[in-house]
Amino acid sequence: MAQYVYDFVDGNKDLKDLLGGKGANLAEMTRLGLPVPPGFTITTGACRAYLSTGDVPAGLFAEVDDHLHRLEREMGRTLGDPDDPLLLSVRSGARFSMPGMMDTVLDIGLNDVSVRGLAAHAGDIRFAWDSYRRLIQMFGKTVFDVPGEEFEAALAAEKDIRHVVGDTELDEAALRHLVEVYKKVFQTHTGREFPQAPHEQLHLAIEAVFRSWNSERAVVYRRQERISADLGTAVNVMAMVFGNLGDGSGTGVAFTRDPATGARGVYGDYLENAQGEDVVAGIRNTMPLSQLSTVDKNSYDELLDIMARLETHYRDLCDIEFTIERGKLWMLQTRVGKRTPAAAFVIASQLVDEGLIDLDEALRRVTGRQLTTLMFPTFDPAATPAPLARGVPASPGAAVGRAVFDSARAAAATGPVILVRRETNPDDLPGMIAAQGILTSRGGKTSHAAVVARGMGRTCVCGADSIDIDGDSFRVGDTVVSEGDLISIDGATGNVYVGPVPVRPSRVARYLDGTIEAGEDPLLWAVGRLLQHADGRRRLGVHANADTGDDADRARRLGATGVGLCRTEHMFLGERRPLVERLILATTDEERQSALDALLLLQRADFIEILTAMDGLPVTIRLLDPPLHEFLPPLTDLAVRVARAEERGEDPGADAAMLAAVQRMHEANPMLGLRGVRLGLVVAGLFAMQVRAIAEAAAQVRADGGDPHPEIMVPLIGSVQELEVVRAEIEQVLSTVDGGSEARIGTMIEVPRAALTAGEIAPIADFFSFGTNDLTQMGWGFSRDDVESAFFSRYLELGIFGVSPFESIDATGIGRLIRIAVDEGRAANPQLTIGVCGEHGGDPDSVHFFHAVGLDYVSCSPYRVPVARLEAGRAAV
Ligand code: ADP
Ligand code: MG
Ligand code: MG
Repeated sequence: MAQYVYDFVDGNKDLKDLLGGKGANLAEMTRLGLPVPPGFTITTGACRAYLSTGDVPAGLFAEVDDHLHRLEREMGRTLGDPDDPLLLSVRSGARFSMPGMMDTVLDIGLNDVSVRGLAAHAGDIRFAWDSYRRLIQMFGKTVFDVPGEEFEAALAAEKDIRHVVGDTELDEAALRHLVEVYKKVFQTHTGREFPQAPHEQLHLAIEAVFRSWNSERAVVYRRQERISADLGTAVNVMAMVFGNLGDGSGTGVAFTRDPATGARGVYGDYLENAQGEDVVAGIRNTMPLSQLSTVDKNSYDELLDIMARLETHYRDLCDIEFTIERGKLWMLQTRVGKRTPAAAFVIASQLVDEGLIDLDEALRRVTGRQLTTLMFPTFDPAATPAPLARGVPASPGAAVGRAVFDSARAAAATGPVILVRRETNPDDLPGMIAAQGILTSRGGKTSHAAVVARGMGRTCVCGADSIDIDGDSFRVGDTVVSEGDLISIDGATGNVYVGPVPVRPSRVARYLDGTIEAGEDPLLWAVGRLLQHADGRRRLGVHANADTGDDADRARRLGATGVGLCRTEHMFLGERRPLVERLILATTDEERQSALDALLLLQRADFIEILTAMDGLPVTIRLLDPPLHEFLPPLTDLAVRVARAEERGEDPGADAAMLAAVQRMHEANPMLGLRGVRLGLVVAGLFAMQVRAIAEAAAQVRADGGDPHPEIMVPLIGSVQELEVVRAEIEQVLSTVDGGSEARIGTMIEVPRAALTAGEIAPIADFFSFGTNDLTQMGWGFSRDDVESAFFSRYLELGIFGVSPFESIDATGIGRLIRIAVDEGRAANPQLTIGVCGEHGGDPDSVHFFHAVGLDYVSCSPYRVPVARLEAGRAAV
């Protein structure tokens, strides 16, 4: 039969699966010889057995009694002894810390008789009755679900009658009376007397702790923190020590360093004459821990010694619970403590300086997610009002601006704006680029607004469904926000505020892009140090997705060593749109050529900027990818305009020709239609114009003394034949420009067929770049623009995937396509460079995957470059 019970002296900190975190650490502290009240731990396995059968596993209570006897012998006291009773605490404690989510019962073993024994033995009658009323209260709440408010109300009433304010002012008589009231409350709710038999109390409390694993708040917490539902909790049974024995006693919590900033020092709170949860419950004002030195210098010094030992032993920040009983210090809990992202960096770096960990370990202890949080501006918490609405926190940051309900107006606006839309589509791009932030009332984390905003580093709150958008205003309840009104949105929390909330810029971001120096700032120093170490360790290169010289420049300052994706379609938007329209509507070769010539000049200028910004480093330029009709006005608008004109008997003019073109180009599935390489093969001269612009730009930069490294990337290849034809055309154009043949030519791998035939494609490609957005879209058969509103939330709810495959790469399925392409591509062409562009390149989990499959680099938006550098380093240590 399995062993269900372990004494503290027999466990250690590595047995968390078996003993839970609290039990394993109590055992570890016992092993270290620290003053821990003796006790034992019932395993998580016992809890699992209990939860699966609804019954206490056979032999458990006999085993508990066995260990209890040992505990009684050690303490020289017996549970239920009327003269000198042993009292117990029964505490939950799971594998992963779930603070306050499950139950604990203190003072087990008291009853109408032993309360007198306790009083006599402690020489403190008041204390004994205070403990007894606490037992009935906690036991009633935890074991029998008696509503806590009933006890609270009785306590408040008692204080009223006695004309006192604080709990500690209640005297012995009052507490004795309160016990009677509590017992009645207990009986009214449970239909039974408060159990007087100490062993029954113990057994019922153990079962209650088992059950608390499935309490509603525990279930919700686990779901949020992604803790598995079938681990179960351990139960710790230990001798009570008393902080409520007058002013020479008390209880407290402490951190070995500041969990908010990481600063060294003494952090914590202490409360005299108190027990258990009193400190955190805020029923009385606590004193800062440092003040304990004036109250009880000996205990304070011992505590500081112990905290230093724990830090050295765990090699990390620890938090602890302790109690002082008449001048004697007792340790009740410790664990590696939670901390803010800033503290995580500072502490990791400090521990290196203190010789407790090496830099590799420090790197393991910080995450890209933490760095992401640190790089965004935040609202000043002291000046933040109540939110007006709340949506999905889709892209972090704190943005303030005037609400603008139309993309064109947002693009034309002067001063900061927040673009407010029901949802966004590619037409909104100019407005999104111009806006500080984007707020939508529909869609979630993978909606167009969310994905694009994250890519551009814009703050975004989406799916704020309580805001009702109507034309140029929105309403939430009685509040109306009109075009031009100031609003603030918090992309980290999803909160929406009326009016401007003061923003604090991120010092980390300004440090990383070279605007400020680290100086004496311990956070900046730690971030710089750990990133530098990551750079030294990582095998993955980090490139950036950048479409303009400014972006390329910023990316470079943030540590990118190349542009992995330069999208040329952004260069066709805005005022250049009419040129694209001319190209599409051209009816003669001359018209087409003149439109192409005009575009060539503009593109060449764009490329010169980017190649200059990335001087000496590769710049991968993707030939035009989206369907051309994305550059034309929407079909319905045009149809209405033409119909109106005809109604009025007017000539619709250019609109009619445009309408005909749009109708001709209409596709049922544009994502699977005429785009990417297909455009290049169908629209004569288009790719040739782009290639010429690239080659001429490079020649110009070189002539000016620069060192350009353009790479020409063909999108949406599905078969080697496509690439053969396009490559021949590209090479032909390059051969006409001086130095053109130095440009490398490669392809995106984003159509599943390309991944599966990578071995055929690789010999005529200089490089591969995985377009993981399209690869995911086509691999799963999910339309990226539609799934979010249609069914993703349901899928996430059902656990079909834990996170959207557009956010984190699906390593099993899409990852398999990538593996095949890497293996077969490299086998066929050992010189092949392989990278990834697209959203996944900056996603921490995905970066680890790309490292594991052996890519050469990831490419992501400039803002995510430091995150990718850090994660690539973490993947390598
Ligand atoms: P949680 O996991 O929610 O923190 P705990 O099991 O730590 O719950 O216990 C709740 C409170 O009871 C804590 O303040 C703890 O210090 C106190 N406590 C637990 N065991 C004892 C004990 N043996 N003697 C005195 N106080 C105790
Ligand atoms: Mg605790
Ligand atoms: Mg694509």
